[in-house]
Amino acid sequence: MSKIDTLCVHAGYIPKKGEPRQLPIIQSTTFKYETSDQMGRLFDLEESGYFYTRLQNPTNDAVAARIAALEGGIGAVLTSSGQAANLFACLNICEAGDHIVSLNNIYGGTVNLLGVTLPKMGIEVTFVNNDSTDEEIEAAFRPRTKLVFGETISNPGVEVLDIERFARIAHSHGVPLVVDNTFATPVHCRPFEWGADIVTHSTTKYIDGHGVSVGGCIVDSGNFDWNANADKFPGLCTPDESYHGLVYTERFGKAAFITKAVTHLMRDLGSIQSPQNAFYLNLGLQTLHLRIRRVSDSALKVASFLQNHPAVAWVHYPDLPGDSQHEKQLKYLPEGSCGVMCLGLKGGREFDNRFMDALRLITIETHVADCYSCILHPASHTHRQLSDEQLKAAGIAPDLMRLSIGLEDPEDIIADIANALEAASK
Ligand SMILES: *Cc1c(COP(=O)(O)O)cnc(C)c1O
Repeated sequence: MSKIDTLCVHAGYIPKKGEPRQLPIIQSTTFKYETSDQMGRLFDLEESGYFYTRLQNPTNDAVAARIAALEGGIGAVLTSSGQAANLFACLNICEAGDHIVSLNNIYGGTVNLLGVTLPKMGIEVTFVNNDSTDEEIEAAFRPRTKLVFGETISNPGVEVLDIERFARIAHSHGVPLVVDNTFATPVHCRPFEWGADIVTHSTTKYIDGHGVSVGGCIVDSGNFDWNANADKFPGLCTPDESYHGLVYTERFGKAAFITKAVTHLMRDLGSIQSPQNAFYLNLGLQTLHLRIRRVSDSALKVASFLQNHPAVAWVHYPDLPGDSQHEKQLKYLPEGSCGVMCLGLKGGREFDNRFMDALRLITIETHVADCYSCILHPASHTHRQLSDEQLKAAGIAPDLMRLSIGLEDPEDIIADIANALEAASK
């Protein structure tokens, strides 16, 4: 069992004789032990086992193991949301006084997390551009820089991260590259194969795929050598007093990062995904490979239609030949990127609104990357807290609309767009 499609269906949960065919929902906060000593050993991390769902639950672990298998990682943890996944990935490495280098084209929620909220906790961030030269990126590093952050396909700008380049620069400074792989999904890109060290997901998007549960995931490649620059990573390489002086890298080796995320951050900050949601997530995962290919195929058809429509000023989709991201798409996402694209219309703001209001099949919603086609205008919706300058810095033109292609027939989607463009012109 090594092919992606098979892993989507089976990895992480292989029932034995007489066990349920479907992944069971272990709807239990606690787990029973026979002796006081057994329980004590769990709390000292001397033995692994379930004791409290805030740290670990069998349903969650099965789904996390499936995502880890898909990404080619050594372990993963589910979180309550994608925001929690990115927050925990940072807090598992950084503490007050530390610094992060991040791409500036990332999801608006993550811009707020890194640019506004983490600084209040004493962690500073310098944003760099996707097109920055190596020298410009190098210049963003400080002595206390602890990680580099980017998205495989940025939301909403659909820019493709040059993972190899950013991994090389991060590693030359002795720090890991953390990649949010939400839009690409491990079916279309596995960032670890290109040198990324930690992967995060908002599983709310394609992995769930049906818009039913908010969730996130952190995956550890096991490849980053924390001890090579132990002074940079005291949380991983020096004694943790809350576990009697245990050192994560000594006790857990390659799994130091992901073990600490569970046993330290989940224990203290508590952002576990509910087992019920993990069950829904698992249902979504089992068809991820079918869905992500279908939405990418349809998106290319829609993008080609838009490209040739006289009312459309521009369309940006990495899979379109001639797109600024096309070369990177061919390298990192050769089977297709995802179902999301951006476009701008010629008619101005009023026309944009008439167009969106005239859509019948495609809905206006903040969500993206699931089975329903939907559209959003970031400047008036998700990113309305950003100034025009910040919008521009994030690569978001004020006329940019984000269109997410779902699982409907592409001809129906195209007909809906054509009708709405005509209605808006009247
Ligand atoms: C939606 C999203 C997030 C945040 O995830 P939530 O599950 O909504 O908390 C993070 N990163 C990307 C790329 C996203 O699209």
